[in-house]
Amino acid sequence: MTDLLSTIRDNLKAVQEQISAAAGRAGRSTDDIRLVAVTKYAQWPWVEALQQLHTVFGENRPQQLAERRQLLPDVRWHLIGQLQRNKARLAVQNAALIHSVDSARLLQRISDVAADEGVTSPVLLQVNVSGEESKSGFSRSELVEVFAQLKDTRGVAIRGFMTMAPATTDESIIRGCFSGLRELRDRLQQEHGVELPELSMGMSGDFPIAVEEGATLIRVGSRLYEGLPRE
Ligand SMILES: *Cc1c(COP(=O)(O)O)cnc(C)c1O
Repeated sequence: MTDLLSTIRDNLKAVQEQISAAAGRAGRSTDDIRLVAVTKYAQWPWVEALQQLHTVFGENRPQQLAERRQLLPDVRWHLIGQLQRNKARLAVQNAALIHSVDSARLLQRISDVAADEGVTSPVLLQVNVSGEESKSGFSRSELVEVFAQLKDTRGVAIRGFMTMAPATTDESIIRGCFSGLRELRDRLQQEHGVELPELSMGMSGDFPIAVEEGATLIRVGSRLYEGLPRE
């Protein structure tokens, strides 16, 4: 085995062990938690090595996602980064799940494109739980207000929500962000009688907390490439 492959294998294993440990602390089954291996900064040989070990990848940009999907069609490619409306078609055609639907206008655009393509596009709504100005997404109060109109949008299947925690070392703030998303999901599920099974939350620095708070999809990038030489 090459150094590249064994380094990535060790990193992946360490992440999976942390997921299991966090799931254990929360009394959850690891089967309910999927790792989205984020490849946005990964050099191509790293991506090729990773796909021998894992099959769900996340990309930030629809263009790079589409190009890489051509090369590795068996991987399930998730779009996790901000999506411009003029790139919606590329996303609908190539992404197995779009995590980053941050406005009603974008959802409508995806709906139009999906109808045109004759498909149903699985999506998550991005929620700005922390309320930071720099972050995109629905605010919690806005989502509570508009969810009734969004939930039956044709051509899209809203599978749940996604959020990003603030960049802080204060664990209670991070935890509050993740539990806030879970509580919002629980509330909207109940109020509207819909299933919103997915919570996409947690990155390299905070995924164990996200797992404890109910994440079903965690998006981990840099942790997988630790120890690899940069060009
Ligand atoms: C880059 C990125 C990640 C992964 O971040 P790491 O800190 O490298 O694990 C997760 N989610 C989103 C939306 C990202 O843009």
